[in-house]
Amino acid sequence: MRITVVGTGYVGLVTGTCLAEIGNEVICVDVNEEKINKLRNGIPPIYEEHLEEMINNNLAKNRLKFTTSLERGVKLSDVIFIAVGTPPKSNGQIDMSQVDEVAKSIGKYINGYKVIVNKSTVPVGSANRVKNIVYLNMKDKSIEFDVVSNPEFLREGTAVFDTFNGDRIVIGSNSEKATEIMKEIYESFNIPMLITNPESAEMIKYASNAFLATKISFINEIANVCERVGADVKEVAKGMGIDKRIGNKFLNAGIGFGGACFPKDIKGLMQIGNDAGYEFKIVKKVLEVNNAQRIKPVEMLRRLFGNLNGVNVSILGLSFKPGTDDLREAPSLYVIKELQSDGANIKAYDPIAMENAKLVIGNSMTYCNDPYEAVEGSDVVVLLTEWAEFKKLDFNRVKELVNRPLIIDGRNTLDSNSLKEKGFEYFGIGLGDAS
Ligand code: NAD
Repeated sequence: MRITVVGTGYVGLVTGTCLAEIGNEVICVDVNEEKINKLRNGIPPIYEEHLEEMINNNLAKNRLKFTTSLERGVKLSDVIFIAVGTPPKSNGQIDMSQVDEVAKSIGKYINGYKVIVNKSTVPVGSANRVKNIVYLNMKDKSIEFDVVSNPEFLREGTAVFDTFNGDRIVIGSNSEKATEIMKEIYESFNIPMLITNPESAEMIKYASNAFLATKISFINEIANVCERVGADVKEVAKGMGIDKRIGNKFLNAGIGFGGACFPKDIKGLMQIGNDAGYEFKIVKKVLEVNNAQRIKPVEMLRRLFGNLNGVNVSILGLSFKPGTDDLREAPSLYVIKELQSDGANIKAYDPIAMENAKLVIGNSMTYCNDPYEAVEGSDVVVLLTEWAEFKKLDFNRVKELVNRPLIIDGRNTLDSNSLKEKGFEYFGIGLGDAS
């Protein structure tokens, strides 16, 4: 199959590369020339496990090409995936300008039957929106095309694995011809496919993300009560998760969710509701709970130190979750901002997000080459991302290096008993320690 993927971000690049890996001829298009030049040389602009080797493998086999020419991408392919960004506007509305721009160009260059696939997360009704824009921009109105919705469920950090091992592939289509083509593309993935109309497919994406985010904010509120009443949220979550109706995933209490998707998609769902004359009450609260939760370590520090001016804080982990260098909406950004406004001195380390952090945060804090350098001379170590390597730290060495053996574990990921035995003061989230 000849496929074009427009947008080489987390979703587009991973989708395009995986589709090439299973034997399709794939053209990846992006407006960012620097990205495209790097990709032509086999250098991905993002970190995802196995992605670089797969890109190079498929470049070598000539199945994967990178270009800034959407015209080439449209004319040379039968199926065009739109995987550009849909960021929130300042008023919380979904910014559809990138999708609209691509749809216009597809209309301009369309030269025969195409399946146009909305892979970006887009509001309900967007398949129709894209269809209208393409049609309006076509010179030859007799050319046929279909627009389908195929929302993406990959998780950053495990994006390649998720693409080949997802729980479901959702195809929202009103055209049998397009549905058959989509089935053909995905049949070798061996993942259950759900065929719906485009509106349901679009809603499935928002409803799924909002539900997962709700689970996180729910357990975080349980954690906040646990620490007031002497209960341990880890035990509570375990006890809840054994119940198959609840399940044990997304029940880790901590400093909340971040990333480009959950906050944005919740706002998107609220907008979809508003536009339909319905006010979503639950998800509004989910966001409020998360906003408060992500700066919880700062509140704990304010209680512990009184005044944070001049306090040396060592931060372990900056990305919004392990396995990615993505800092979009990362709780670390909010924690750092609060700490800096209180006058704390910050040293930080993250296994792979340091370069991105320098771009986003600038030189207002010290970037360290390893976790031991980061904790040297610290009055408190604050863990914000649950990278596996932090669990394996030599905490005897850490204790030698710090001023005060105090740890705030924002992800409840460290072994509290072992740390307390080593002489650390340890505070997690909702562990019944009145932190
Ligand atoms: P991203 O910001 O990482 O990448 C978007 C890319 O599109 C950028 O490289 C940008 O240069 C390019 N682009 C913008 N306008 C373009 C145009 N006119 N022509 C060609 N390229 C253009 O975004 P992302 O994280 O990959 O997300 C893409 C979409 O997928 C969003 O709607 C997002 O909500 C959704 N999504 C993201 C994830 C995730 O984990 N990141 C998961 C599921 C769904």
